[in-house]
Amino acid sequence: MFLGTGGARYVIAKQMRATGGILFRIHGKNILVDPGPESLLRLLTYVPEFNPEKLDSIVLTHKHIDHSADINVYLDILTRGGFKQGGHLIAPADAFGEDGVIFKYLMQYLEKIEIIKPKFEVKIGDMILVFPKRHIHPVETYGLKIRVDDLSISYISDTKFFPELINTYKADIVILNLLRLEPSEIEHLSVPDCARIISGIKPKVAIITHFGMTMLRAGPWNIARRLKQETDVTVLAAEDGKHYTIDKLLSYK
Ligand SMILES: [Zn+2]
Ligand SMILES: [Zn+2]
Repeated sequence: MFLGTGGARYVIAKQMRATGGILFRIHGKNILVDPGPESLLRLLTYVPEFNPEKLDSIVLTHKHIDHSADINVYLDILTRGGFKQGGHLIAPADAFGEDGVIFKYLMQYLEKIEIIKPKFEVKIGDMILVFPKRHIHPVETYGLKIRVDDLSISYISDTKFFPELINTYKADIVILNLLRLEPSEIEHLSVPDCARIISGIKPKVAIITHFGMTMLRAGPWNIARRLKQETDVTVLAAEDGKHYTIDKLLSYK
């Protein structure tokens, strides 16, 4: 479930696309990844039946504001404002401390805090989450891989392209943060980068998200279609509030 598909300053500032992160609901577990600005509002709007107190884990791939703005709101909910020990948070080391984004006073109420390092693995229900590699991005950033049954899902968070991304994120379903149309000096994936990754991995389906202005102007679905032609892999453009079921994703041709 995409609680947001926007990235980059202007898109966030105008909320041209929501920036609430991704909610993975797999085998009875609920994991929220990258709760950016307005994430809670989006969660309550897009999944009204869901009680945010029931989140099993929150993952922060990095501390940039479009990934972390609502994190403390959720931590407050999970700890009932400090009245109850609760919540499981997974985040890189630089998300904590003086320059971090996690309120110190909330940390003492959290049931479990786990710091991401390269190759860090954690089990949640019958899922295994792996954070294989540090990305090339201005702050400490990781992508993640979810393994459940014999299925794997990768989420390639913000990064500059580097060739090992291909081997690192081999999976059946690959979600890519595609911020920019053209390559540039800034440390984000562009359309040609994603074409290389998708044709290298050859997943059953790829989903692009985290669009900046250049992507929105070009039309994410137009780009998805172009990537499909170039890579011969089904590529979908994520939409705010869109719920994808794994079975359906794997049946796309
Ligand atoms: Zn971002
Ligand atoms: Zn970032």
